[in-house]
Amino acid sequence: MAAIDTLRSDATSANDNHATVLIIGAGVVGCLTAIKLAQAGIDVQIVERLLETSEAPRACGYFGAVQGFLDELGLYTLIRDQGFMTRGLCWRGLPKDNDSKDGKRFGDIVAVQPLCAPDDTSFPVGSGLLNLTQGQLNKLFVHQALQTGRVRVNFGAEFVSILENSEENGVTVLARDVDTGVERQYRGKYCIGADGAHSNLRKALGLPFPGHQWPERLLATNVRVPNVEDPVWHTYYYMAEKYWGVATPLEEPVLGEKTLWRYAIAVPPEVTKADDELLSDEYILGIYESRLPGPRPLQAQIEARVLYRIHQRLAPTLRKGNCLLAGDAAHVCNPVGALGLNSGMLDADALAEALVMVLREGRSDKVLDVYSDERRKVFQFFVDPTSSQNKMRVHSHPPETAAQDDWYFRILANNPTKKQMLDLMKPYFETWRTNMRKAAGEL
Ligand SMILES: Cc1cc2nc3c(=O)[nH]c(=O)nc-3n(C[C@H](O)[C@H](O)[C@H](O)COP(=O)(O)OP(=O)(O)OC[C@H]3O[C@@H](n4cnc5c(N)ncnc54)[C@H](O)[C@@H]3O)c2cc1C
Repeated sequence: MAAIDTLRSDATSANDNHATVLIIGAGVVGCLTAIKLAQAGIDVQIVERLLETSEAPRACGYFGAVQGFLDELGLYTLIRDQGFMTRGLCWRGLPKDNDSKDGKRFGDIVAVQPLCAPDDTSFPVGSGLLNLTQGQLNKLFVHQALQTGRVRVNFGAEFVSILENSEENGVTVLARDVDTGVERQYRGKYCIGADGAHSNLRKALGLPFPGHQWPERLLATNVRVPNVEDPVWHTYYYMAEKYWGVATPLEEPVLGEKTLWRYAIAVPPEVTKADDELLSDEYILGIYESRLPGPRPLQAQIEARVLYRIHQRLAPTLRKGNCLLAGDAAHVCNPVGALGLNSGMLDADALAEALVMVLREGRSDKVLDVYSDERRKVFQFFVDPTSSQNKMRVHSHPPETAAQDDWYFRILANNPTKKQMLDLMKPYFETWRTNMRKAAGEL
């Protein structure tokens, strides 16, 4: 794979700042949109403020609908080779004291949602939750985008402002070299803001980002710990009123060996410690003490840690003139249930398809309005309520009574039929991904 830090643009010629589609942000959503456009023969230029892709602990699991899309682009197998399958999700009480030896064992299971059978070795596309860290995925996508020969990635170039956004001339933006401060113009017929939750393109378009912020903050940590029990379903939510969280392995866990896990822990709003203190070994290990199974003293090597605020927000439109929004720039949700990046990747699919229809097939640019409406609808009717309830489900029921109180847990905990399981997963396959061609109709 080409070293990413060699990809930084030092080009100065007059024409290399122009492509048919300009994308702000070389995150996963920006790169994936670029790959699909490039595969359809459309030239793309990406402006990215970082000097290389980010390794921050964020997403790691990708659902069936996304797997189908990745497979169409020829990317599924590449990811499958580097990653592994999360076999299912489970909800547990907090770890319990081990009766026979020191330390703690996994908390009692409240409910299990299998995504593919534990002994299944074939893993057809769409089954299970495909697992690879967002950092690894991003690197792979930059590489794949460059491989198309139609994508140029300008690392170290920060979008500053929009100079023009018109139907006749397309979009011209100003970006600043993060090292030298030198400003430079970039142009495209269309410009996509895939520049994340704090999107400056969205702000430059004058679009607000209505919604709300959750009171808790999320402390996302990557930690290497010994596997003392087989987790079987891999990803688990540990239920509690406070300091609830999500644990998921970042590599296939092997019993008796050490594995890198993601422990995301909710820090309650009343905790007023400074960020430095919250991110200290002392604070994190203190929480792990009651949240991690395994021997004591804890054998936990913290390899990454970040503190996030979590939100539910949706931009009022994903199109303004020839500028479009996708991924976190368009909408954000809390990460419980892994709906954030997955939704962004499905935006990439729909937006690239819409642009192919407009740019390559001469269809009306109203198709881009359909993109905006359809993806906002998906957020409003599926992503927002589902992610909100995924979060609430982890901390608003005592684990002892949750399987009686909550309809979702009740189905899962009572030997669900195949039909009940398929019904639960239906929106993940039928609502989440947008069929742009069907949605655009005769346009
Ligand atoms: C703890 C945690 C766990 C998560 N887990 C999951 C999960 O399991 N599954 C899931 O689906 N989602 C998950 N998410 C959400 C997921 O990380 C986001 O939805 C995802 O990062 C959005 O991707 P994006 O490409 O839209 O934006 P980003 O990843 O934010 O990428 C935006 C890019 O734009 C660049 N950029 C920003 N501003 C500028 C500028 N002015 N000029 C040029 N470039 C710019 C940035 O440097 C960045 O490279 C999680 C989030 C958190 C916080």
